[in-house]
Order: sequence, then C-alpha cells, then structure tokens
Amino acid sequence: MHRRETAALLAYVGRLDPRTIRTDQGEARDQLAQWHDLLDDVPMATPHGWDACVAARQHIRTSPYQILPADVARPWERYRRDRLARHSDPTPSVDPDDQAAWTAELAGTRRAVAAGTAQPVQARAITSGREGIDPKLEARLREIGSCIPPAVRIALAPYRPARAAREAAVAQGMPDALSVRCEWCMAQPGKPCRRRIGVDDGVRGTAPRDTPHPGRFDLATSQRLQQPEQSAMA
Ligand SMILES: [Zn+2]
Repeated sequence: MHRRETAALLAYVGRLDPRTIRTDQGEARDQLAQWHDLLDDVPMATPHGWDACVAARQHIRTSPYQILPADVARPWERYRRDRLARHSDPTPSVDPDDQAAWTAELAGTRRAVAAGTAQPVQARAITSGREGIDPKLEARLREIGSCIPPAVRIALAPYRPARAAREAAVAQGMPDALSVRCEWCMAQPGKPCRRRIGVDDGVRGTAPRDTPHPGRFDLATSQRLQQPEQSAMA
C-alpha cells in the first residue's frame, strides 16, 4: 500500500483502538514510517475479497493486544497462500511451441492470483465443463480440432494416403466413403478398402488401397441422401 493508504489505515486503527494514537508529531511520523516499511507489499484492498481494514478490525475485535503491522501482514500472507493453493494453472492461450510466452503466461497468471487481482482458476474436473476456458484457447482448439496440428497432418499425408484422401473428400464436401462398409472388399466402416496381392493367381494376402472402391462412394452418397429423411422421421 502507498504511504497515504498506510496513513488512512493508521487513522482507522486509531479510531478503533485509541491506544495506538501517537500525539507527538515525531512519534506519529516514526509510526507511519514503520508501518509503511512493513506493509509496503500488502495491498490496501483487492477486487476479490482482501481488505487491510477488515484484517485490522478483526485483530482489534478479537485480541487484547495492541495491533502491530504483523497483524495485517500475517492475514495477507495467509490469504495469498490460500488462493495459490486453490489455483491450478489453466492452459495458456498462447502457442504451446513458444516456450517463453507459455511460461510467461503461466507465471503472470500465478502472480495475478497471488496479488489478489485475479481469481484462482480451479481444475475443470471439479467445476462445470468448459465454461471457464479462455476464449483465446477455445479459438485455438477450434482451429486445430485434433491433437494433430494441421501442419503435421499435411506432413503426414504421404504416409497415410487413405486417411488423407478421406480428409480431402470430406473437406471438399464429398461423401465420406469410409463411413460405410464396402460391399466389394467387405472393409468395415472407418477402415480403408483392401486389394488382393499375390503371384501367379495365388492370393497371398491383402493390402490397404489408397482410394476406396468406387462402389463405396456410391453407397456413401446414397446413404447421405437418405439421411435427411431418416432424421425427419425420427
Ligand atoms: Zn472396398
């Protein structure tokens, strides 16, 4: 608190407990200097429940001993510790690959909670779902929509052609062939079509095809056309 705030606190304390009032000008100056020095880093009040006057009043109300700066500083430390104990670091909204910004946001949030300017953020598991989530982080999650970032997904495309073809088809608004079972090779929904491999007419096994069998596209298309009717009937 500022010097002026310390003076105001001392005036308030003097009203509640006249023993603390110093009538000698030199003594009063020393008292103010002492309190100011000891309560320099204690805020007068925060938007979230801390008030130095309340702490002082509580001491005078419940203790027969004359109030000391420690009787304000100690409750403040307790308040600070309690808030930090309830705080679980929320996921920062910045790019996770930017280590410096990530750490800075975590530390900044903690400092704000300790200083009383921000409310502690509790683990989402014990609060209600995604309500408390940072809007900036929400936007980032929407943009990615997967634990595989877009850039990595593009880099992986050559190594998983069936998956890439499916994503490309869906992105272009085409029917998702892999959403239905293939009537030709019997591949289950979600699994790529398979082709037979073998030598001299003898089939040795199967391997995944990069593209689904054409009939599977037709089936997916017809299913998609039927779906609006089904949902209307339901
Ligand atoms: Zn097939």
